Amino acid sequence: MPLYTADALVLRTYKLGEADRIVVFLTADRGKKRGVAKAARRPKSRFMGALEPLTHVRVAYFEREMRELVGLNYAEPVRSPLSGPGESVGHASYFAELLDEWAPADDPNETLFRLGASVLDAMADGVGVDGLARYFEYWLLRLQGVYPPHLVCHRCGERFTGRPEAGAWLSPLDGVLTCAACADGLGGHRLGTALSPGALAFLSHARARGPRELGDLSGAGTVLAELESLHRALMVRHLERELRSPRVLRAMKRGH
Ligand SMILES: [Zn+2]
Repeated sequence: MPLYTADALVLRTYKLGEADRIVVFLTADRGKKRGVAKAARRPKSRFMGALEPLTHVRVAYFEREMRELVGLNYAEPVRSPLSGPGESVGHASYFAELLDEWAPADDPNETLFRLGASVLDAMADGVGVDGLARYFEYWLLRLQGVYPPHLVCHRCGERFTGRPEAGAWLSPLDGVLTCAACADGLGGHRLGTALSPGALAFLSHARARGPRELGDLSGAGTVLAELESLHRALMVRHLERELRSPRVLRAMKRGH
């Protein structure tokens, strides 16, 4: 039985039998795993304080031939969402649910792991959760090709990072942006959804910087609200197309 150690993020847990838990976790190096944490529901369990959603843990686990579930030897918390401000716990569950939906089993994706871990670190540092949520959603949507990799107009190459003041149009099905001038040139044929100059500026910031550098977004309430409803629509559409879990769809529709 090969034994692995890894950095991982706890995504969710279920009860199993009398005292055990099944733990779904995203490893930094080998993708998403499901494992059994023996006696995790007993008092003084060795897993105590390590299984809250989005906890960054150091885990040791072993894989068994022909079994889908791995066995967890230990999970030691490196950083817990419980150490952040009170409001971060609900958001931590939301981030963990989205990672669970986005990460296929056993498919290594270090980018997703780093995204989750860096957002957890930023929450612990007191970065506002609303800005972090929009940051997190932007990166998930970008990894899926809903947002293009570069913030440029797909027709004329206008770089919104330098001159976002006119706003742009996002076509989520094609994953392209169109500047206002090109959209006007198309006879006012708007491609997709409007992005305000403020929203473009936020995305440009999110694209180039880590979540700890989001800084003070107070005063950006209108922009964050715009991106919240846009991202919700984009994610619901994406998840439904991918036939993912109705659980997250419900959470998104009621506004997590
Ligand atoms: Zn253009």
